[in-house]
Amino acid sequence: MAITILITSGPTREYIDPVRFISNASSGKMGKALVDEALKQKCNVIVVKGPSDIDIPKRKNCKVINVISAKEMLAAVKQKLKFADIFIGASAVSDYRPIERSKTKIKKTVIGNDTITLTLVKNPDIIRYVGFHKEKQVVVGFALESKNLLSYAKTKLKEKNLDMIVANDASTISSNKSAPTLIFKNGSMKKMKLMSKEKVAKEIINESIGIYKTIKTR
Ligand code: C5P
Repeated sequence: MAITILITSGPTREYIDPVRFISNASSGKMGKALVDEALKQKCNVIVVKGPSDIDIPKRKNCKVINVISAKEMLAAVKQKLKFADIFIGASAVSDYRPIERSKTKIKKTVIGNDTITLTLVKNPDIIRYVGFHKEKQVVVGFALESKNLLSYAKTKLKEKNLDMIVANDASTISSNKSAPTLIFKNGSMKKMKLMSKEKVAKEIINESIGIYKTIKTR
């Protein structure tokens, strides 16, 4: 039977009012490359996609669920997790959202205060939810850091109960290339040279399927 891979991709958007939001520079390129590679390897794919310019077309064996916010992404993941053998969290989920969303556009005061305060609340950690609710799934995450990359990535691997983490330098965001280090649950590491996100995706899918097969035959 074909392996099913559930992938989150792109950024999330957290609305402040009807026209303004908090988000990040994620392009969704990595997510798309993972989807394309998984399909090439004859897997079934379910992708939960946040808003980005990159289009992930619906194809045979590929279901695309479009979401806007982290809460919506979590709801879609919860619904689809039972169908997945492998979960890959490639989305750059907004870590925080405004504690409330104004129903009407927030007005700028022409005369008066020059500052306004926005109170943010932490969003749910989607991959951590998956890490601690997984039954048979292999769970793969990403870490993007501008310093202490490997030590932060190892901490995330543990704190989110992942099987593998892809550690990337912060310059990777929205770039076409990356040189990640793959870190595995058993502590082993694989440093990769600078390559296209398509080639990185091939490595990630191969390693994820490898882990899945080892677990399954245990
Ligand atoms: O904690 P940090 O955001 O650096 O972790 C990155 C990893 O966690 C990525 O795989 C990302 O998709 C996932 N993540 C998530 N939900 C969040 C934050 C991050 O699934 N709220």
